[in-house]
Amino acid sequence: MRTALCICLIFTFGTALEAAECDTTRTTEPAVQIGFWCTQPWVDFYWDAYDFDKGDWDDGFGWHAACDLRKPLARTFQAIQLVNYASPNEATNTGDFSGNFLRWAGNYTIREIDELDARCGNGSSRAYTKWGPIIDNYTNLYIPFFYNENVVERAGTLVHEARHADWCGHNGNDGSNKCSARSNSCDEKYRDGCGGFGSPSGRGAVGYQILWLWWYAFEADAQHSNTTMKDFARDEANRLLNTMLDVDPCFNITSSGAKIITC
Ligand SMILES: [Zn+2]
Repeated sequence: MRTALCICLIFTFGTALEAAECDTTRTTEPAVQIGFWCTQPWVDFYWDAYDFDKGDWDDGFGWHAACDLRKPLARTFQAIQLVNYASPNEATNTGDFSGNFLRWAGNYTIREIDELDARCGNGSSRAYTKWGPIIDNYTNLYIPFFYNENVVERAGTLVHEARHADWCGHNGNDGSNKCSARSNSCDEKYRDGCGGFGSPSGRGAVGYQILWLWWYAFEADAQHSNTTMKDFARDEANRLLNTMLDVDPCFNITSSGAKIITC
């Protein structure tokens, strides 16, 4: 039984501000997305699956307009759709963890994330997950998640935070071999990235994020990807591979998910 109280920060710690204190609308986006994810049954299902609460998503974050891509809520649903449906062989229910990671990553995020909350943040943090016994567990999503990340990056961030919610903290940027990003969000190795007493072992948050992006580039279906989106996945995966691991994994990926040996 894991009893440690762990707190993980992605990028830097930020003070939660109410939506009224930050800009929660982007007018460069289309006002409304037409897609199955913004139909009422789908919104209702994922609202419950990720334990959204009205009090965390009103005041400008989009509670009144779940399909409006100028608002944080719709931009979160858009990323949730990718995480849950990009596989050409979609999971059959939320308990289905068979097949590759692209197929069950959505179920992993649903199982591990305790609740998804929108906050202003400090302007640089994308997200923050708090976990442990007794204390309230939650994942906060901040303005840079909503507006500085494209939808593929947002999906990867949800996978990253889900790994933290599984009580896996970062174990990199330490010793004499720090990651090139010099960030506390670094992991030690691609397959060794969890830290903190009571944490699981194995692939960490950065590794999970890379793995999802890699599978997405390799085989995401045409309804949930295009060449631009696969380029996004390649670029984000390679950024993580090249800067967020203490030990260079010595590979990059192409936009079709091929592996390139780099050292
Ligand atoms: Zn992290």
